[in-house]
Parts: sequence; structure tokens; C-alpha cells
Amino acid sequence: MDFSLSDEQQMVIKEAKRFAEKRLAPKVEELDEKGEVNITALKELGELGYLGITVPEKYGGVNMGAIAYAGTMLELSKVDAGTAVEVSVHNSLVNEGILKFGTEKQKQEYLPKLATGEWLGCFSLSEANAGSDPGALRMSAVRKGGNYVLNGTKNFTSSGDFADVIFVFAQTDMDKTTTGISAFILTKDTPGFSVGKHENKMGIRSASCTELVFEDCVIPVDSMLGKENKGLRIALTLLDGGRIGIAAQAIGIAEAALEEAIRYSKERVQFKRTLSKFQGIQFMLAEMATEVELAKTMLFRVAWMKDSGVKDYVKESAMLKLYASEMSHRVCHKSLQIHGGYGYMKDYKIERLYRDQRITEIYEGTSEIQKVVIARKILE
Ligand SMILES: Cc1cc2nc3c(=O)[nH]c(=O)nc-3n(C[C@H](O)[C@H](O)[C@H](O)COP(=O)(O)OP(=O)(O)OC[C@H]3O[C@@H](n4cnc5c(N)ncnc54)[C@H](O)[C@@H]3O)c2cc1C
Repeated sequence: MDFSLSDEQQMVIKEAKRFAEKRLAPKVEELDEKGEVNITALKELGELGYLGITVPEKYGGVNMGAIAYAGTMLELSKVDAGTAVEVSVHNSLVNEGILKFGTEKQKQEYLPKLATGEWLGCFSLSEANAGSDPGALRMSAVRKGGNYVLNGTKNFTSSGDFADVIFVFAQTDMDKTTTGISAFILTKDTPGFSVGKHENKMGIRSASCTELVFEDCVIPVDSMLGKENKGLRIALTLLDGGRIGIAAQAIGIAEAALEEAIRYSKERVQFKRTLSKFQGIQFMLAEMATEVELAKTMLFRVAWMKDSGVKDYVKESAMLKLYASEMSHRVCHKSLQIHGGYGYMKDYKIERLYRDQRITEIYEGTSEIQKVVIARKILE
């Protein structure tokens, strides 16, 4: 068993770390405060190849695979988990979706621009009454001659307000719930498409989250990805891979929280000793470090499974997302506890990390949904 990363993988991850420290760190607090997106950084990440990290060279990507992607997500998330989730959605849902399910024409049309960051992408499955239960989708896609007409409103779409490319799911057969969903891809300039409400979020405030509105939005039939009524399978397959990105995000946040706790515990003096001299604090730090390490091992194993072409890693990716996100919760909780009252104040980084972490237990399948997936797999 070989746990080492190749020189190229190490280089890509190291460069992501350097980028995060140089280009994301100086802005993250301000963007968190204002709830604004770092578009400039996203574009720069595109120029560096990070928005086409798993896309083959022939479509303009750098083809570095899931391990390099996971390491990149971890490093970006350590510094700015909001920007990182936009990188995650773009790579693991939009690019991978077109790569896996698109026609050659769709690949040629979309991937070169997405892989270089000229275009940014979003993935829109959720609706007001369809979160964990995609069978409840109400957005419709009605076939009319050579077109589909889209009508409906999606909610909670990350990057929805600035994305050039919209990957969206709608019912092509309203009577069939989960077996009537189809996937479509369109650009933001399509008449009938508009951006609705902007959410004011608790955390990852440097990422946007919006409603998307489709009113008699006419798209040609070749905008469909995959086959008619097979969209749910596409969404679920992509979310299996997407969970690697979200797990990496959770671990990056946890690693940052651990580092903050170590640093603070060595500085803060109570009872004439630094906090780090108290065994109660040492034990918390030891538990946090062990959990982060365990989650990292799981992360790279699942990424390795994906890179190795293992077809079914559904259970493992659900376990990874479940463990990493809840681990991150525990680590952020303990880090804030170690900071005492200061950790509750916006002057300290842990206050933001604690807020940013929370979403990792919710999106791309809540913890409960991960358990449903795991239980189904182990009982089959
Ligand atoms: C910041 C943010 C960004 C997002 N980005 C995107 C995006 O880019 N694209 C997109 O499509 N969606 C996105 N989402 C939506 C996200 O995926 C959903 O919020 C998530 O899937 C949960 O759906 P819900 O919020 O409707 O909760 P619900 O499904 O209503 O769940 C509420 C509670 O019930 C539990 N529950 C539901 N069903 C079961 C069950 N069968 N068994 C046990 N418990 C259950 C859930 O676990 C949860 O605790 C985003 C959400 C947020 C908050």
C-alpha cells in the first residue's frame, strides 16, 4: 500500500496552498462581513488550471484527478471555505457532469471555457419543497417541437448569481416523480432565465446562494444531458463525487480550527500557565488532531478509489462526507471552547470557521441522508 502523493500532485496542492494564503487570506474577512464573492480569485484559479482540474487536456483541463482535487479543496477551504465551495461545484458537479454525461458536441462547446474559468458554472437541483427529496421537484420541462420549455423556480443555488453555465434539473414527466427528472445545461443569457432572491447566509459568506427563475425559458432539445427521465441518476452519480469536495472542505476548515486552537493555547495564560500546559486542553487537542488525521486518510482513500476507476464508491463517499463534516463540527466546537469568550468574538478566526463548518453537514446530502445511503448499501 502506497500512501505517497506523486510529485505533480504535491506541486498542485502546494500551489493551491500558496494561492490561498496569498490571494484569498487578505480578503476573506472583508468578504465574510459583506457577504461578497471573490470573482477575481475564481478567475485566477481558472487561469492556473484549478477550474479544470479533472478535465482532460483535450478539453482544456489539466487532468490531475481526484486526489489533487481533494488536496486543493482542503487547502483552499482552510483559508476561504466560501470560495472553495464555488470551486467544488464548478469542478465536481458541472465539469464532471458534462464530462460523464455530455455528448461530444456539449463537451466541445462547454468544457474548454469552463476548464479555464472563462465561464463559471452552477448546479441547480434543489427547490423550495424538494431538498432531500428530489422526487418532489416541480420545475417542468415540456417538449415543444425541437425545444424544451422550462418553467419553475430553483432555490439555494451556489454561484447562481454569477454563473455563466447553469446545470439544472426539471421534470419531463410530472406523473413520475423520481423517474421523470431530466438534466439540462444552458447559458445565463437564455431568454426566460433570471436570478431571484439572494440568500443572506450564516456562513461561507464569500460564496453566493440564490434562487434561479425560469419563465417560459426555451432551450433546444440538444441542451439535455444524458437521456430523458434519467436525470436523477445523473444527479446522484455526480453527488457521489461531489462529496469528496465537500468532505475536503470540512477537513480544511477543521485543520484551520485545530491550528488556531494550538496557537491560542500556547499564548493564553491562566493560573500562571499557558492553556497548553493543562491536560484537559491537551486531551482536547489530541482528540482533534486524531480526528482530522483520520478524516484525511479517508478523504485520500475515496479520492484514490475514484481515480482508480472503482465504479461503486457510493457507500465510501457517503461515509466520508458524514464523518468529515461531523468531525469538523466537533473540532470547531472544541477550538472555540479552547478560545473561551474570545472565540465568540469576530476578532478571532475561529468565530468564522465555526459558522463556515455548519453547512458541510447539510449540503450535497444532509448527515441523515448520508446515513440513509450507507444503511441502504450495507443492508443490500
Ligand atoms: C448554503 C447552501 C448552498 C446550497 N447549494 C446548493 C446548490 O448549489 N445546488 C443545489 O441543488 N442545492 C444546494 N443547496 C441545497 C441543499 O442541498 C439542501 O439544503 C439539502 O439537500 C437539504 O435540503 P433541505 O434544506 O430542503 O432540507 P430538508 O430536506 O427539508 O431536510 C430537513 C431535515 O430533515 C431531515 N430529513 C429529510 N429527509 C429525511 C429522511 N428520509 N430521513 C431522515 N431525515 C430526513 C434532513 O436531514 C434535515 O435534517 C444548498 C443549501 C445551502 C444551505
